[in-house]
Amino acid sequence: MAMHQFKAESKKLLDLMINSIYTNREIFLRELISNASDACDKRYFKSLTDTSIGITKDDLKIHIQPDKDSRTLTITDNGIGMTKEELEKNLGTIARSGSLDFKTENQSDNIDIIGQFGVGFYSAFMVAKKVTVISRAQGADTAWKWESTGVEGYTLTEADKEDVGTEIILVLKDDTDTDKYSEYLEDYELANLVKKYSDYIRFPITMYREKSRQKPKPEDAGDDYKPEYETYTELETLNSMVPIWKRPKNEVKDEDYNEFYKNKFMDYTDPLRVITSRTEGTATYTALLFIPGSTPYDYYTKEYEKGLALYASGVMIMEKCADLLPDYFSFVKGVVDSEDLSLNISRETLQKDNQLKLMRNSLEKKIKNELHAMLINDREKYETFWKNFGRQIKFGIYGDYGMHKDLLGDLLMFYSAKEKKLVTLDEYVEKMPEGQKCIYFAAGDDTDRLGKLPNAQLVLSKGYDLLLCTEDVDEFCLQMMRDYKEKEFKNINSGDLGLETEDEKKAAEAAETENKDLFEEIKKDLNGKVKEVKVNPTLQEHPVTLSAEGGISMEMEKVLRRMPN
Ligand code: ADP
Ligand code: MG
Repeated sequence: MAMHQFKAESKKLLDLMINSIYTNREIFLRELISNASDACDKRYFKSLTDTSIGITKDDLKIHIQPDKDSRTLTITDNGIGMTKEELEKNLGTIARSGSLDFKTENQSDNIDIIGQFGVGFYSAFMVAKKVTVISRAQGADTAWKWESTGVEGYTLTEADKEDVGTEIILVLKDDTDTDKYSEYLEDYELANLVKKYSDYIRFPITMYREKSRQKPKPEDAGDDYKPEYETYTELETLNSMVPIWKRPKNEVKDEDYNEFYKNKFMDYTDPLRVITSRTEGTATYTALLFIPGSTPYDYYTKEYEKGLALYASGVMIMEKCADLLPDYFSFVKGVVDSEDLSLNISRETLQKDNQLKLMRNSLEKKIKNELHAMLINDREKYETFWKNFGRQIKFGIYGDYGMHKDLLGDLLMFYSAKEKKLVTLDEYVEKMPEGQKCIYFAAGDDTDRLGKLPNAQLVLSKGYDLLLCTEDVDEFCLQMMRDYKEKEFKNINSGDLGLETEDEKKAAEAAETENKDLFEEIKKDLNGKVKEVKVNPTLQEHPVTLSAEGGISMEMEKVLRRMPN
């Protein structure tokens, strides 16, 4: 029997798994159950278009069974199953190689990251010394058996299995003084784990449990009869099967939402905000959305895929439906469940689906309102959000020719030179003294230096505040905004700020005529590097200042020059 090697990356990860001192190893069960549930989803979805499969939703189930004698724990599902090729592909390579990259990049010793990212199937090796997968795919003639004892590799042989589906048999590791693997053979422990991690799974998760009951009292029992007990086994469904987004909000604990979020979306931090929404009318749907508490490591890269999980009446039809989210809210994770969508809708028809557009618009409003509510009621959290995803909002304003500036403008925050903290545009405008006409900003690399610019000091000396913009997108964003609440944005380094008094103006004009020849001479000496040399009537501590005229500021020029053509 040939031994197949794992792909190099999987091997590394597997090694980490097996030898990890990982404390949260109990999550292996959740991972295997969630795979089984996905497999059931897939088979059900397929059966909708292929009537020959002949199953209904009620036929699908997941069964777990411990056996103390053989020290095995078996997880069985009658989902879609895997062909030989699929066994090879899915279990021979690690699906989410991103987690390894993340670990090496961050040089973190925190082994927790392994579990937090949900490495799925491989987590079985945290508790098992041998894993056997027997699977028969929908439509396949034969079943196949995949078997592995760890890093050495795996074997793949033909096997007997009547029904479509997958059976995973774990031979648990031996107990040591510190690590007790036997607990995963105890039915109450398993029942607890299912309740804790997999309660919302929409297929029944069953297990035979040993119970005890009082024997019926014999008819001829005398007065001194003592009740007798007997044990029996009963098939019990361990999960409540109600998806968390269908449960009334007041019945769900915050930590349940957090757990669900972390498991489902593979994050290791709690979400910053949970958004629940039930809408009826033009678009009928239930949504459970999350604002992540940290920036995904690939968020600002091409690799990041936006999207919400889309369910039609409780059946998952798409894991990441990108059409439900505009780009500027691409950080939002979550689930949308609608009764209006047809179950056997395809990706292509989905795009054209009017219902989907209605949902998208309604979700967009909801997200916007929640973010704004967070800004008003929970400033600290909002600032964390802003630190993580503010850049995306600014891009959103700049993109699509400024189409979304009304929607997103009041979410913006910039660093205030006067208040030395982040302020919103509303706050800026509210505090504008009488006579101030524009919203002033300066763009550059660091706030300290910006605050010392000659024009910055001029603006501040008038008692006006100044926004210090240090991200490359800032200036583009503000230029696209053009104005806010009818106050124009003004870059302090683009030309005349019009802040001088009449007297200053007159004095400047006089000085200019007087020194005309000198200025011409300076301009000549600078050899075409400047367009004009003028008197600046408002300079305070600085002898000279550079200013740009026209649409593009010096900072913008820098950014544009950095961009690849
Ligand atoms: P993920 O679930 O994130 O894709 P896993 O490591 O958990 O990663 O599983 C890898 C793949 O193996 C799955 O995507 C799926 O295709 C396949 N798989 C795992 N368990 C089952 C199962 N019980 N039935 C069918 N396919 C499965
Ligand atoms: Mg999985």
